[in-house]
Formats: sequence, structure tokens, C-alpha cells
Amino acid sequence: MKQFPDHLADRFRRFKYRHFAPNQDHYEKLAAEGQTPDVMVVSCCDSRVDPETLFSAMPGELFVVRNVANLVPPFETQGKYHGVSAALEFAALNIRVKHIVVLGHSGCGGVRAALDHNTTRQTAAQFIINWMSMLDEARDKVLAAHGDHTAAHLHAALEREGIKTSVANLRTFPCIQILEGRGSIALHGAYFDIARGVLEVLDRETGEFVPL
Ligand SMILES: [Zn+2]
Repeated sequence: MKQFPDHLADRFRRFKYRHFAPNQDHYEKLAAEGQTPDVMVVSCCDSRVDPETLFSAMPGELFVVRNVANLVPPFETQGKYHGVSAALEFAALNIRVKHIVVLGHSGCGGVRAALDHNTTRQTAAQFIINWMSMLDEARDKVLAAHGDHTAAHLHAALEREGIKTSVANLRTFPCIQILEGRGSIALHGAYFDIARGVLEVLDRETGEFVPL
């Protein structure tokens, strides 16, 4: 019985031959010693924005959590299932990463949903609506500042504002506050423009995104 997709099986065999075999020592070392990445990346589920590809990373180098629109929720302990918060806590306290990068991108479908609730409701996307409500404040701020601009302009502005929101939310976690206060961890925002291949990084002083 055929269950697993052929093209994935073929691609895995290609990986095994082209990548794993020449780097087997690296994988054996990772298996024996565990992971010690010094960077955590919070990125979108979007298939076009792959942190390992963008930062030319080998396995073991980036601790990545991906979700719709690369969001970090604010610290709270009421809910039961906190995937991002659990990953964040593990990265900060167990792995002791030195950097956390919130990586946003152009053309983000999650951000589009945050801007256009009517369209999202028509598709009965109940989880998306709830998840993207984290950007309600950012959306209102963008609409107040850029309300007379085109939809594309608003979209791009909210993509960047959302990154700032997530960086700010990182600072609501007590463990991050302590580690950042000690200078043990640094928080970063970055924005990848897919069509142009440009990475913009958030300037901590000015709050602006500056191309690398
Ligand atoms: Zn996205």
C-alpha cells in the first residue's frame, strides 16, 4: 500500500546521498552531544521564508519556532497549550541562546487576515481570527498612521509593525527580562522581502527597518 508521497521519499534519498553522507560526522556529533544553537528564530509557517536557507544554517545551528505570521504572544499563564511560550522558555533557560530573531516577511497571509477580517470570516477561519487578534493594537496603529494609503502599503506596514509587537511581547516574559537585563540575550527584528531578496533589520534606536 502506497502511503508516503513518492516525491518526498525521493527527496529524502537525495538528502541522504548529497547532504547527510558528506556531513555524517556532523550529525553523529550532534546526536552524541546534543544541540547548542546560539540563535532562536521565530518565523512564519510560510513555505517561502525558510530561516535555515536564509541564514545558510546547518542542522544544530538555529532553534526555530514557526507559526502563522511569526507571532510571539504576550506572557500569560492562563491557557493550557502555549507552544511558542514553551519553545521560548526552553531556548532561553535550557539552551541559553544568545539571540532571538523575530523574522517577518512580505506577502504574509496571516497579516492579510488581520487587516481583512471580513474575508477571513467568510472562509470560517476561526483559529486564524483568534490568533491574529494579537495584532489588533498594531493594526489600529497602522490604520491611524497610514489609513489613506493603498492596501499593499498597509499590509507591508503591518508586517513590520507585527514584528515590533512580537519583540515587545518577548520582553513581557520574566526570564527574557532578566537575561536581557544581564546582557545575556539580545532581541532582534528582521523582515525578508521575498521578491527582492532583501533582509531588513530593526534598528533598536530608531524603530526603523534598515536593509542589510
Ligand atoms: Zn507569513
